[in-house]
Amino acid sequence: MNKLITSRHPTRLHRWIALGLALGIGALVAAVLPFAGDKLPACLPFLPIFCTAVVLTEAITSLLMWVRYRMGKSPIDAALSAAYAFSSLTCAVQLLIFPGVFSPTGLLGAGKQTAVWIWVLWHGGFPTLVLLGFVAHWLAQSRFLFRLKHARLLILLALAGSVLGCVIAVRFSDALPMLIKDGSYSLLRHSPFAFYVVVACVTALAAQLASGRLRTALDLWLSIALLAFLADVTLTLAGSARFTLGWYGARVASVIASSALLAALLVEISMLYSRLARINEDLEEKANHDALTGLYNRGWFDAAYARECLVARHQEQPLSVLMIDVDHFKLFNDTYGHAAGDECLRRVANALQGCLRRQGDAVSRYGGEEFVVLLPGCATASAVSIAEAMRSAVRKLEIPAQSASGRVTISLGVFTAESGKSKAAKAAKSAQADDPLQCADANLYRAKAAGRDRVVAGRSAMGASLIGIGQGALAR
Ligand code: GH3
Ligand code: MG
Ligand code: MG
Repeated sequence: MNKLITSRHPTRLHRWIALGLALGIGALVAAVLPFAGDKLPACLPFLPIFCTAVVLTEAITSLLMWVRYRMGKSPIDAALSAAYAFSSLTCAVQLLIFPGVFSPTGLLGAGKQTAVWIWVLWHGGFPTLVLLGFVAHWLAQSRFLFRLKHARLLILLALAGSVLGCVIAVRFSDALPMLIKDGSYSLLRHSPFAFYVVVACVTALAAQLASGRLRTALDLWLSIALLAFLADVTLTLAGSARFTLGWYGARVASVIASSALLAALLVEISMLYSRLARINEDLEEKANHDALTGLYNRGWFDAAYARECLVARHQEQPLSVLMIDVDHFKLFNDTYGHAAGDECLRRVANALQGCLRRQGDAVSRYGGEEFVVLLPGCATASAVSIAEAMRSAVRKLEIPAQSASGRVTISLGVFTAESGKSKAAKAAKSAQADDPLQCADANLYRAKAAGRDRVVAGRSAMGASLIGIGQGALAR
């Protein structure tokens, strides 16, 4: 499955939204075109608001398309990144030099023709760069290898083209052919430059539809962006002057053109985020759990044990550890086979888990047929009764085995580290520099040595205070 959502088939919802937008753009053009030249009140804040929105959305789109290019290495993505970077920069300059925004005649020493020439540069350059992407894609499919350096060069060319074009439009506006006269663009409308802009827009849209055939979500949204761009050009040219209905309508289309792709990319990013979170949860689950039994694994236990020892000491709470081993399990495997052995381990694990009642109590697979239970805040008596409940839960499974009892049994070593302030705890503490896990393990060995299928608890290191439970063995 492709990792990028915009590289997959568009969903039904995407198609419906895109169809709605395409119809909306068509309706906008059809409604505005007959009255495009009608003068409307000059809303001076409109242009700075519009330009700021376009500059920001296109800069972000350019960045996201660049990230997309680095992931997929498609020349079209690199060209789109270049096209949006070009468009963003040119629109920013348009904002600076536009008469009436920052100064009555525009900043940077702009002439009367500057704004219209920057419009030509912007609306001719964007589709040209998109077309360059298709050419690079087509070449890359034959022999030419489109590399990172070509992508970087394309971005540099786009930005350099924007800067150079803007410098010419600002510095030499008087020397350039006249496109605006007495506030009217009718000269532009009948010039070869407008013809080029329209042809470039139509060709880019046609190339996109022909090559992409709306196969992916990116194809779909790029087609919408190019359609809106064409609508912007059509309405601007039809409006023939600033602050006409056509001019305002064109700006609305322009906002759609600049944000359609960004919206699709943002949806993609948010979906990737939630997928990443899900994958992370799965990974964490897999990293902490044993594949055979589903219990916590050794890695989880080691970290939890270190943590609980610290907490117990800090909070002066007891911490009980149970070490559990399945009796004569090698013989079980040899008799019934490893598949039956695995099933037996699963059932034993389930029975052990079923004996835990408190949040924070945890049973882990320590390795092989050995399990370990952590019981934070649990004193010896309760730990022993849980251990005894586990022993009888496994017996109750009645898994046949070649042992004296005729069924699978377990042996358990229990040890409680006392950290309280009580007299008993202090006495225990002084005799107990021992590691509770090691002490529980030593008790397990004693349970094995005493005949298996039993619980042994207490301070076994010195051999004192030993409690053997089950099978009648009990010594203090
Ligand atoms: P004891 O009562 O002294 O513990 O004897 P035992 O046979 O249980 O002990 P031993 O350590 O000799 O054998 C443990 C066996 O557990 C050997 C190994 O094949 C088996 N074992 C360990 N992990 C697994 C597993 O994941 N699946 C299966 N089927 N067997 C396992
Ligand atoms: Mg063992
Ligand atoms: Mg064993």
